Amino acid sequence: MARGKFIVGTNFKMNGSKAFLGDLVESLNRADLDINVEIFISPPSVYIDHVRQILRKDIAVGGQNCFYKSSGTYTGEMSAGMLKDVNAEYVILGHTERRTLFKESDTEIGLKVEHALAAGLKVIACIGETLSERESGTTFHVLFRQLQAIVEHVQDWTDVVIAYEPVWAIGTGRVATPEQAQKVHAAIRRRLKETVSESVGERMRIIYGGSVNLGNARDLAKEKDVDGLFVGGASLRPEFVEICNVLR
Ligand code: PEP
Repeated sequence: MARGKFIVGTNFKMNGSKAFLGDLVESLNRADLDINVEIFISPPSVYIDHVRQILRKDIAVGGQNCFYKSSGTYTGEMSAGMLKDVNAEYVILGHTERRTLFKESDTEIGLKVEHALAAGLKVIACIGETLSERESGTTFHVLFRQLQAIVEHVQDWTDVVIAYEPVWAIGTGRVATPEQAQKVHAAIRRRLKETVSESVGERMRIIYGGSVNLGNARDLAKEKDVDGLFVGGASLRPEFVEICNVLR
């Protein structure tokens, strides 16, 4: 069963400026990019509209978060419909920084995934264990709990991509080995087959994020259950173009 294209996506987090993003877009617009790779970039929300207007159309733009209501008295929030309105295609949900710094619960993330899909966005649903959870042997327990909260809110999985992002690898320079990533991705896929369906598990694109750079991208991409890469820090550097071409 076809799994769709390999994906390379970014998480710019709260970084950049209009000028910086303008330069970054220009370098992407000029780049010779592999047509076999689906690429999305996710600027801070205030820049999404601008970036969408100046970026080449074969690269998608995404948001880094959205709320689970369409409109109303939710100061500081943005809805999935608003992201669609400025032609964003993707939204990242459940990132560890949202879970920890902004206290988003598994349930809230499930609601956000449901809301975003209903609005027509594609969702990058992030799950990942902390170092202490890994060291205490609860990695799969934690990942499956986070996954279950998403499973309960999704009917149609067409527009969902799962991002495995071990918290201990995010922004630390300590990347998961290809074997560690493969083991977890295979387990997530198995779990989806058991709890949703064989075909959803088989077709699901599961991407790896956490200290991906040009030096480790190729080896990670070779693993059979690694269907893409999710890039934070390195997406703000010139090497990002080469990471996008990692399959070549
Ligand atoms: C992230 O925060 O989603 C991420 C992948 O960051 P980094 O690549 O910097 O570890």
